[in-house]
Amino acid sequence: EKRVFGNIGALKDLKDEKPGLILGVFGCMTQQKDVAQKLFRRFPFVNIVFGTNLLSKLPSFVEHAEAGERTLAVEEGNIVIEDELPSARTSTINAFVNINYGCDNYCTYCIVPYVRGRERSRNPASIVAEIERLVQEGYSEITLLGQNVNSYGNDLEGTDFADLLQRVSHVKGLDRIRFMTSHPKDLSDRVIAAMASLPNVCHHVHLPMQSGSNEILRRMNRKYTREQYLTIVKELREAMDDVEITTDIIVGFPGETEQDFAETLDLIEQVGFAAAFTFKYSPRKGTRAADYPDQVPEPVKRERLRVLNDLQERKSRENNEKYLGASGVVHVEDCDTRNEPVCYGKFSNFKMVYFPGGLELIGQYVRVRVKQVRKNSLSGEMEENNL
Ligand code: SF4
Repeated sequence: EKRVFGNIGALKDLKDEKPGLILGVFGCMTQQKDVAQKLFRRFPFVNIVFGTNLLSKLPSFVEHAEAGERTLAVEEGNIVIEDELPSARTSTINAFVNINYGCDNYCTYCIVPYVRGRERSRNPASIVAEIERLVQEGYSEITLLGQNVNSYGNDLEGTDFADLLQRVSHVKGLDRIRFMTSHPKDLSDRVIAAMASLPNVCHHVHLPMQSGSNEILRRMNRKYTREQYLTIVKELREAMDDVEITTDIIVGFPGETEQDFAETLDLIEQVGFAAAFTFKYSPRKGTRAADYPDQVPEPVKRERLRVLNDLQERKSRENNEKYLGASGVVHVEDCDTRNEPVCYGKFSNFKMVYFPGGLELIGQYVRVRVKQVRKNSLSGEMEENNL
């Protein structure tokens, strides 16, 4: 939230330069009425502030802004997110497709269930139809999105996420299917089997671990143990020898002792994540953990985050080293032409790869052999006999 406030403040100069510019702030954060009000008061140059519940009203808010009126609108109560609104896509390489909205899990640190409402799955036929349209527009890679994609279909009859993967995988012209995010408690054997058997489903799972301590996982209300987490990792690797796993980790959750933190480090050591998004716990008003009495002091959190990041950096490098000399297919996302042109894109399992190439390769699938390992990526050269 602090960062959002800072970024909005930084837009003031732009607004002064272009007084006709319409600025709107909306989403989960502004679904919290007090935050929306604070933001509206603090930044008089922002035209529109509204919460997730009123997304479908955006066109009328813009009309009001054009007529010189400011809008602050937050509708509390049942969150309903319209799911068939037109999408604007900024990437021409990978299109994001929502498959479910909201979340029923109530992790004790997370505001999402309160601001995005109960879990709701889109109809599979409408998802497939959207993806077919995307392929016609030229996309060959899509990412299925949800707070917890693995529980897709829990609110529908006779379908689940594995079934959706099957249906989507049959769309002609679709080369890569990704998905985010997977809750470990819902990653079923059926999903693992679908990933392993469907040729266009990418071998990458973003599987937030959050903590390696069973006591902290219980207090977070995550509903799995470190042992169960390790079992899923083993099953994924047995099913797909090239699978990569990335994760999210929180340090300094209320009540986290040195021993709990050591268990987190131990789990990271054991799993060997390709990459991790790491966070210091920060209390969110309205969540259960914000009221826990045993908050961890800021300097302790900061130090644990430093230790954690050092360890993950070493593990990422170790993970990258196994690719030295290996060859794989990169879907080229872009090309940096400021100096000698360097293209970049990902292997199917999400490894980022850089290699010399030209703008004409953007959007292509090319085979690259890895020659060097960097901290967070690989670099190599295109192979002679390409695709
Ligand atoms: Fe849901 Fe993820 Fe938030 Fe937990 S952390 S409540 S699974 S969105």
